[in-house]
Amino acid sequence: MKPTVIRSIKSQQKLSRQIIASGKTIAIVPTMGFLHDGHLSLIKKAKVKADLVVTTIFVNPTQFAPHEDFDRYPRDTKNDIRKIGSVGGQIVFMPRADEIYPDNFQSWVVVDKLTGLLEGASRPNHFRGVTTIVSKLYNIVRPDYAIFGMKDYQQAMVLKRMTSDLNWPIKFIIAPTVREPDGLAMSSRNKYLSGAHRSEATALIKALRFGRKMVRAGEMSASEIKREMKKIITKSAPSGLIDYITLTDMDSLETVRNIRGKTVASLAVKFGKVRLIDNILLK
Ligand code: AMP
Repeated sequence: MKPTVIRSIKSQQKLSRQIIASGKTIAIVPTMGFLHDGHLSLIKKAKVKADLVVTTIFVNPTQFAPHEDFDRYPRDTKNDIRKIGSVGGQIVFMPRADEIYPDNFQSWVVVDKLTGLLEGASRPNHFRGVTTIVSKLYNIVRPDYAIFGMKDYQQAMVLKRMTSDLNWPIKFIIAPTVREPDGLAMSSRNKYLSGAHRSEATALIKALRFGRKMVRAGEMSASEIKREMKKIITKSAPSGLIDYITLTDMDSLETVRNIRGKTVASLAVKFGKVRLIDNILLK
């Protein structure tokens, strides 16, 4: 079925009020559009949980730095709406940027510690943009469930913290990363990889899986694991520029030296102008 497209904040608020008054539940799936099977897996998960799934499409300007790819970020709304309908998503909320950020907008939501490293270290202010837009979407849509992808691991952890810290009565769900057959994590940005870079990009998951294999074989030293992962990327992706390879505690995101509890390996690698991130649970 074709989903209903809502553009104005007022209309979305009115709909959410009606749904809540009728005793039904709402799930939100925030996205920046140009949807792929990873996004659709979140919508499918949301469908299992709630009566009404609101997929939001908003390329959020405040989470991009001036030198980043906001203007080049891929957009294909018509196909996005069709794809959302194909998995049973009922509502597409696509607010206008000038209604979300009117002149003189000056209120921000900030999560402190968790945003200091990994993506936060490489992209200052990025998470301030993410936490602010998700707060606004929560307030407009008033969901019972919010679904995010493990693909953006730090983002998921930051938003989980925020949801709990600010007492939103929302069940926070993190869904697994959906991958291409060769293991590359699906991402709207993959379309910008040149042919050669696309083949080299499989080095990310190769390195991550090798790291996991080392841990399974008993290696507990983070520096050893990182060294081997780096070797794989340097060899299999000679044109990739490594931004970081980091092993962190799953929940606190603190850097790990010796692996004990649940540990995630994350990395960011740049191919030309395209920056890819991925991660894996090592243990
Ligand atoms: P984006 O449109 O890139 O902002 O992503 C919107 C949501 O989809 C976020 O919660 C992402 O973590 C999630 N997502 C993106 N790529 C994938 C993927 N390959 N598998 C699962 N979820 C994903």
